[in-house]
Order: sequence, then C-alpha cells, then structure tokens
Amino acid sequence: MAERKILIIEDSDLMRDLLRATLRDLGTVEAAPDGKSGLKMALDLMPSIILLDIVLPDIDGFRVCEALKKDERTKHIPVIVMTGLDSAKAELKGLSLGAADFVRKPFEPEIVRARVRTQLELVSAREELVYMAMVDSMTGCFNRRHFMNAADMELSRRKRHSYGLVVAVLDVDNFKMINDTYGHEAGDLVLKEIANCCKETVRYEDTLGRIGGEEFAVLLPEADVDGAYVVLERVREKIAAIEYSHNGHIFHVTVSIGLTEVDYDDVAINTALDRADQALYQAKEQGRNIVVIN
Ligand code: GH3
Ligand code: MG
Ligand code: MG
Ligand code: MG
Repeated sequence: MAERKILIIEDSDLMRDLLRATLRDLGTVEAAPDGKSGLKMALDLMPSIILLDIVLPDIDGFRVCEALKKDERTKHIPVIVMTGLDSAKAELKGLSLGAADFVRKPFEPEIVRARVRTQLELVSAREELVYMAMVDSMTGCFNRRHFMNAADMELSRRKRHSYGLVVAVLDVDNFKMINDTYGHEAGDLVLKEIANCCKETVRYEDTLGRIGGEEFAVLLPEADVDGAYVVLERVREKIAAIEYSHNGHIFHVTVSIGLTEVDYDDVAINTALDRADQALYQAKEQGRNIVVIN
C-alpha cells in the first residue's frame, strides 16, 4: 500500500509541530496554517485523512468541513475535528457536518494516534470495497458495470476534445467445448491467460473489461480503426499461440474479435458495442479466429 498522506489544518505552530511528531510514523504529514490554504492542499494532495482545527484565522473549521463534504472530490476523506475542552456543542456540530470523529485539545498523543489509526483502517476497507465493486476477481479486468461506466465517461470526455475512439469485443471460440473436454478449471485458466495477454498487449490508456462469461471488451482512445485493427490482430495471434497444459492435455484456444469506431452520434457505449457485436458475429460466421471491422 502506498504511504498514507495526512493533512493537518491548524493555525498554531506549536500544535502543528506536536501533531506532526505524533503522527509521523502513520504517514506523510503535511500541514496548512489556515482554512483557505487547507482546502487548496486537500485538493492538491488528496490526503487519506484530515485533522481540522475549528478556530482558524480566515474561515472557521466548520466551514472548511462543510466545503470538503460538499465537493465530490474530497467528500470521502475522513475529517477529524479538533475542539477545545468542554466543547460538546462544537463536537456535535462537527459530527453533524460530516466529520468522522473529534479529538479534544490539549490532546493526548496516544488518543489522537488511536483515532487516526481507526480512520485509516476504515479508509483501507473502503478502498478494498471500491476495488471489489470495479474489478472481476478472476481476471483482474474491470467488470462489466465498471467497463460501461468508464467507457461512457470516455465518450463524454471525447465530446470536449475530439479524438478517435474505437471499441472491440473479443469472444473465446468454442469455449463450451473447452469446458466440456478439459473441465471448468481449465476453462478458468484459459480466461486468465487471455486476460493477461490482452493487458500486456493494449496500451495503458486503453480500458479492458470482462463484459460476459467468456467475452471481453477493449476501449481504445486516440486510435483509428486501422491502428486498432493492428493491435487486436496482435492480440488474436498471441492468444492463438498460447499452449495450455492441463492434467496432461496440451491444447490451444482461439478468439474472434469485432471492432468498430465509436461515432460522435453514439450517445452511449452500448450503441457502439452493438455494432462491434455484429462484427463479432460475422467473425464467427467466417470461421472464427479472425478480427472483423464493422
Ligand atoms: P462460440 O465460438 O460461438 O463463441 O462458442 P462458445 O462455445 O464459446 O459459446 P457459448 O456461448 O455456447 O458458450 C460459452 C461458454 O462459456 C458457456 C459457459 O459455461 C462458459 N463460461 C462462462 N463463464 C465462464 C467462466 O467463468 N468459467 C468457465 N470455465 N466457463 C465459463
Ligand atoms: Mg486554532
Ligand atoms: Mg460468448
Ligand atoms: Mg464464445
């Protein structure tokens, strides 16, 4: 796991130094002396957690908390508000504005550490959930839902800065027979190998998803149909060359691929995927193990 970033928004130099020393071994600690620079740093750093003082020289901590929770980009970051002793009201107000927790000043270092550690554990758990909701655990590709979302986002981005966009669907040939002949476990192995081969061959900026049982899709931004054809032809060849060995059986598997340019008329990725599916159908009709453009 990458090192955690911790942001402290606190105007007292002494308090900032104390907190830095207290939290040093829990992550990289950065600090801002007022509300405005704190908000800016939150956006620049995207810290895992924010410790927020209430009395600040410019805007008060409650407003900073409110601004953080209103912004889509920062609303998930847990905020621990730091309040003076006997300030039940301030604690309640902080919590009602979306703060995750509070610490009382003057603080007990071990209590601050314990509360920060708890929040960081929740951050890790949340990250894992987000990951699990996006990724297919068997192949490590995006799952269907996330592929569709990511592709639709790419479509809207492309409306603002025009560039070529191509989508391809890849379907394993006679996969039912692979399962029937060598077993489901061998079938799973094939799917993992195919996913790895796709990942190795497409570019970093291309989006790869497992959109069905034995079906994958690739979205290639800043590509034209001819360029994409070359890439997918390479994918097809590489997959056909993989030799599988399972329970003493040696076998090969091929894939068919359909691809199409995403038009500016395509309001969602679905319409382009339908065209790619038609090309895939033709590839199957033409005997499989080929790439067809629609
Ligand atoms: P075609 O060349 O026309 O695509 O034929 P096919 O046999 O690949 O197509 P069909 O749709 O008849 O069969 C797909 C098979 O994929 C059936 C299903 O059991 C299998 N399958 C789907 N998901 C998985 C999986 O996660 N693991 C394994 N091992 N098999 C899967
Ligand atoms: Mg203060
Ligand atoms: Mg299929
Ligand atoms: Mg198939």
